[in-house]
Amino acid sequence: MTFSALGLAAPLLQALETLGYKTPTPVQAQAIPAVLAGRDLMAAAQTGTGKTAGFALPLLQRLADSEEKVGSNCIRALVLVPTRELAEQVNASFRQYGEHLAVSSYAVYGGVSINPQMMRLRRGVDVLVATPGRLIDLFSQNAVKFKQVQTLVLDEADRMLDLGFAHELDTLFAALPKKRQTLLFSATFSDEIRSLAKGRLRDPLSIEVAPRNSTVKAIKQWVVPVDKKRKAELFLFMRKDRNWGQVLVFVKTKRGADELVGLLQAKRIKADAIHGDKPQASRLRALESFKTGEVQILVATDVAARGLDIDDLPQVVNYDLPIVAEDYIHRIGRTGRAGATGEAISLVCADEAPLLGAIEALIKQTLSRDEEPGFEPDHRVPLTGGAAQAPKKPKKPKVAGGRGKGVPSNWEGFDDAPARSAPRRPGGAGKPGGGGKGGMLRSAGKNGQKPKTAGTGKPRSR
Ligand code: AMP
Repeated sequence: MTFSALGLAAPLLQALETLGYKTPTPVQAQAIPAVLAGRDLMAAAQTGTGKTAGFALPLLQRLADSEEKVGSNCIRALVLVPTRELAEQVNASFRQYGEHLAVSSYAVYGGVSINPQMMRLRRGVDVLVATPGRLIDLFSQNAVKFKQVQTLVLDEADRMLDLGFAHELDTLFAALPKKRQTLLFSATFSDEIRSLAKGRLRDPLSIEVAPRNSTVKAIKQWVVPVDKKRKAELFLFMRKDRNWGQVLVFVKTKRGADELVGLLQAKRIKADAIHGDKPQASRLRALESFKTGEVQILVATDVAARGLDIDDLPQVVNYDLPIVAEDYIHRIGRTGRAGATGEAISLVCADEAPLLGAIEALIKQTLSRDEEPGFEPDHRVPLTGGAAQAPKKPKKPKVAGGRGKGVPSNWEGFDDAPARSAPRRPGGAGKPGGGGKGGMLRSAGKNGQKPKTAGTGKPRSR
């Protein structure tokens, strides 16, 4: 399969050659001919599958083919994205792919002055990439008009809903011309997304390039159980031990991001953070420095989980697990992109077991656990996934003298679990119940129960 066989014109093929794209990815092979034919799309595509080119290439071609001139303050195609970073990135992709075409593109988003955006829109823009909030501001001030919009793209639609843009999307749908082409892209398809699409897409072609909610196969994923207070130490150790080069690290909070960066910088490790409190300019600067290799460790909150496209990023570390399980898929999608292999390592403490359980349920896979010698947690991370399916409460003993009062309440639920009979490692001896909270078991990978994982053997590369 070639790009020219998909019906793309010479100026686009030339740009793709410059970029070194040789064959279309599966989502591109399906989306490009359909979009060129004017169809609506509902595409479930994982991060890093090439979905941006899947809509940008045919869109550019349709816009270049049509004779229509864009009017003042008008736009001909609208691409809605959840974050500023993604807006910049998608706009950059349009520019690259459309290098040899006379199709203009521009990105608007909040957090920066609205005036330059209003000025630029006066001349009209063929493709406007926008975050919903800022777009509504511009629309309400008449800086942008939708009457010429022929195509609407919702990129990472699930994320837009997660970020609370449902109301903005309703407003925009009401303002957009009813006769239009609509392309909806989402890494994951929830019921909310399906109801968002309902009645707003015309006989859409459904594309699903990977099983629902699965993670990219090229990514080796595993969990390192650790006590919360030793995460920083473990991270520093693993980085040195495994000779990590560039690492993208995800943390839960803005403060956590700043603290970790401070700690790394104190050790003379080049690190920077991106999170919602940082001005847009410094977020972009940090991302650029990371892309050029000047910054080795980029610490990010989930605001950065989407839209970062960094070539060949070998490691993603979940220093904290995400609160929203679906973010796990987006986070780790920063590695293993465009067919490259990658590693996604999650440092998980006992408190995070419910989050781990939710992630595993979503990806339908129990992540393997691999304790780091010297960092075995005192507070055991409770079992998750299949191993935790054992009955939570054992039947009350019928005979007198059975377990009754006086037994710590927290023995329940684990006593009858099949893993209980497995030999304990010496590190857990001495304290009742393996030294952990409530007699919780050791990690699945260590107690004789082989966890089901995508990868086989030890995923680490020393
Ligand atoms: P996306 O999923 O759109 O964020 O794209 C992920 C990465 O894959 C980007 O770095 C693209 O430049 C790259 N890419 C997209 N399509 C292709 C292709 N057909 N061949 C090689 N690289 C591609």
